[in-house]
Amino acid sequence: MLIFRQLFDPQSSTYTYLLGDSQSRVAVLIDPVFEQVRRDAALIDELGLKLVATLETHVHADHVTGASLLRQRFGSKIMVSKVSGAEGADRYLVQDDVIAFGSRRLLVRVTPGHTNGCVTYVLDDSSMAFTGDCLLIRGSGRTDFQEGDPSAMYRSVREQIFSLPAECLLYPAHDYRGLTATSVAEERRYNPRLGGDIAVGDFAGYMANLRLAHPKMIDVAVPANLHCGRPESDAGGAINPATDPSWAHLRYSFAGVWEIDPHGLEEAQAPVQILDVREAEEFTGPLGHIEGAVLIPLGELAGRVDELARDRPIVAVCRAGSRSAQAITILQQAGFSDIANLNGGMLRWRAEGYPVEGGSA
Ligand code: FE
Repeated sequence: MLIFRQLFDPQSSTYTYLLGDSQSRVAVLIDPVFEQVRRDAALIDELGLKLVATLETHVHADHVTGASLLRQRFGSKIMVSKVSGAEGADRYLVQDDVIAFGSRRLLVRVTPGHTNGCVTYVLDDSSMAFTGDCLLIRGSGRTDFQEGDPSAMYRSVREQIFSLPAECLLYPAHDYRGLTATSVAEERRYNPRLGGDIAVGDFAGYMANLRLAHPKMIDVAVPANLHCGRPESDAGGAINPATDPSWAHLRYSFAGVWEIDPHGLEEAQAPVQILDVREAEEFTGPLGHIEGAVLIPLGELAGRVDELARDRPIVAVCRAGSRSAQAITILQQAGFSDIANLNGGMLRWRAEGYPVEGGSA
């Protein structure tokens, strides 16, 4: 079976696609976004997948790719079109190349027009295709910067995308209205730029009069993407979203919370404040509490954050780890940064034999 996830970056309205083979657990990621690498890595880990490749649909102008960070983390191969001009990739793709992930395959169709190095990835059974910034839902990518060329795009869409089976689902690199997918049949018929009887001259005229603003990120994103999004860590200034906090061994969850397990808390590299967010009767009840824990029930936390030190990491604790995850959100909103949720709460803490104060045996 195919594992499939569509992920969204709200900053750039970019879709990232995770495709995996459920048997071998081998997966690829199409168009990862630099700032979302931590999220994507958490999902890959939680689904038990092995990321073998990141695939670029093109050299993006609106976001930096997460390809290099993911290669550092998972050893995934960076793949991009041969004519993209990008340096430092592991594989350069041409028409009809095949990218295997477990028992599944993606086939490469070159679809220039937005840039010279645009490609569309077609799933082995032609049930879905990933069109990058060539064909968008009821739209198309821009042709007014990089190596934009309306007549090349027209040919790409008509010859390489509209030639796919009518029921083939199409997934673009972006959508600015929150639309998630379309199909070949729909776009052949209803795409206002490229569908129906529209001829190449009509399309070129449409594209010449779009009057779009200069993309905000282009001067940062294109140079970075020409190096596959390699972070400038040696410069010291670049933010690397995959760099984990150093005060303890933490795990970032796809739910968006840093988690610490009982062993990690025992081994923490810094003096940690333990914040218990249960009710008072639970704190003194049968489960007991962790030595030195400060009790602030979840319902009172937002009004009592000033009782917590800001110069020490905080680990939030509750019965099973759910209320304490909400406590993390409240602390984040109050400006705390080094915070983690005790995974599994007091139940797991006790089950793994860690010491408690009070409580019953
Ligand atoms: Fe683009």
